[in-house]
Amino acid sequence: MFPNLPQQGRSQIQEIKEKLDIIQVAEKYLTNMKHSGPNYFALCPFHNEKTPSFSINQDLQIYKCFGCGESGDVITFIQKIEGLDFPKALEKAAQMAGVQLMSYKPDPKREKEYKEKQRIIEANTLAAKFYNHLLLNHKNGEIAREYCKNRKITKPIIEKFQIGYAPKGYDNLKRFLQKHGFEENDLLKWGLLVMREDRSRGRETGESKAVDKFRFRLMFPIFNHQGEIIGFSGRQIEKSDYGPKYLNSPETLVYKKKETMYGLFQAKDEIRRRGFVILVEGNVDILSSHRVGVPNIVCPLGTALTLEQCKLVRRYAEKVYFRFDTDEAGEKALLRGLEIAENAGLESSALDIGEYQDVDELIMNEPKKWQQSVDQPMEVVEHLINRFSKKFDLTSAKGKSGFIKQIGPYIKAIADPIEKDEYVKKIAVLVEVEESLVLQSVEDVKIATKKNAAYSPEKITEPVSNKKNAKVRITQKEYLAAIFIQKPQLVRKFKELGKIFDEWFVVFLEDLGNGKKLNDLTVSLDVEKKNVVEKLAMLNTDIEDIESYEKAAKKLVLDLRKKILRKEVDTLKRQIKKAEIQNSDYSKLLDQVKANTVELKKLAEVTSL
Ligand SMILES: [Zn+2]
Repeated sequence: MFPNLPQQGRSQIQEIKEKLDIIQVAEKYLTNMKHSGPNYFALCPFHNEKTPSFSINQDLQIYKCFGCGESGDVITFIQKIEGLDFPKALEKAAQMAGVQLMSYKPDPKREKEYKEKQRIIEANTLAAKFYNHLLLNHKNGEIAREYCKNRKITKPIIEKFQIGYAPKGYDNLKRFLQKHGFEENDLLKWGLLVMREDRSRGRETGESKAVDKFRFRLMFPIFNHQGEIIGFSGRQIEKSDYGPKYLNSPETLVYKKKETMYGLFQAKDEIRRRGFVILVEGNVDILSSHRVGVPNIVCPLGTALTLEQCKLVRRYAEKVYFRFDTDEAGEKALLRGLEIAENAGLESSALDIGEYQDVDELIMNEPKKWQQSVDQPMEVVEHLINRFSKKFDLTSAKGKSGFIKQIGPYIKAIADPIEKDEYVKKIAVLVEVEESLVLQSVEDVKIATKKNAAYSPEKITEPVSNKKNAKVRITQKEYLAAIFIQKPQLVRKFKELGKIFDEWFVVFLEDLGNGKKLNDLTVSLDVEKKNVVEKLAMLNTDIEDIESYEKAAKKLVLDLRKKILRKEVDTLKRQIKKAEIQNSDYSKLLDQVKANTVELKKLAEVTSL
């Protein structure tokens, strides 16, 4: 299974897996795990669902989701749910199992990359400490401290986010990091230094040299969700010729902006606890929000919201509250964001902050209002009605018509007629027009197709659960097989299994019935058969006690026997017809039909007992 591992590494993985119980590990992450037969069921942490299709089998020590297909062992589980790469997940598993990990070595290329990643994080961590020290303690940091005071960036917030100050000079950080053994070339590559024309002697030399990338800025370290510093965002302290208002680290081996959410590390525990995440546009909003006790908040940085980011937060909560700026750009971002969130299986609501431009502005003026707003998330459609209605003069005919045109597609897309009616009424009151007229205009709206609309409104109201919780399709035969695998003590009671199942499976069931262990038996199966058995072992049969299992098995055996016999009779009859045409002897076929018919009659009597 792990071809690149030396023998020792393989046995250590084995040791870890033996010491860990997947049920106990899963319980740390999943709530409401339910025990049913040999399996535990829970809501899948990897996709959005309302009824549990995530199954964990204690005997096999594996998990499988019948909804989205995710499956694996205890280490893959840790890897997926923590968002770690394999070496890190193995480390974590080793820790949990109390195993001293010694011999795991990735291949040389991965090893080199892994080492460089560690070095980048080391350099960033040191840089953050350096900047943070300057902000908190150094005399040169006075101007930045003043700035923080004015923006109400308090000391606890500075500490929590390790905010710092990059001074005006050209080589403060460079000298500091070089003293700690880092090379200029690496620091350039990792985006802490940049090349700049050398004007050190007051004249243009045409030569360039490496200088600090961030100068005269308030520095926000960017953490990944595991708490490692992977880059920086630097904000101008005052308007100057030191570059743009915000300057971000370039992408590196460790920093991928599409996969990073600013604030997630500081927010994730509270997101889990509160069950929802607030999405905003700027990192200053996040700091203010933490200050007033609303810490479950994140924002994308230097990019519009991406699917990867949504999937990342989806690990911690199912619900997202959007709070995007009230300008035109913010509105576009909101509409686009809603679609992406839906694709990631997140349920969206919107937060209203009245006339304020952003969360920071609201908190500066009315700090208590933010919590109130968070306590009252709005339906997205409701929020859009509010928002669009403010863009039009609703006393003029033109304004009314414009407003209805803009909100129309969202109303038309609502599937629930009662809900739709409510909104139509609301709009009618708002624009002072007959309800029937509003409804008419709404129905006349052509719903934009994906091609010409950034956000297709029909997606908002489509219940996510319906299409993603597609029922698992299982045949009667598979269901019967699942019963025997999960309750092998029943196998002995049935003598005709050879007439229903393939030979290998009958042998397998008999071994199981004779007390052999499931995971010992699956080891000797080929991959295809192993997959079938594992899937059936983990299927939710929805049966509670052993009597009901037996009853269900009896009924299924009967049904299947009858089906098979009838099918045989059909085939025989076709063969007889053919024989008649060809004038050949079909007496044996006829005997077989008779025999089957007799047996079918017997089975019918059993049913009526
Ligand atoms: Zn799933």
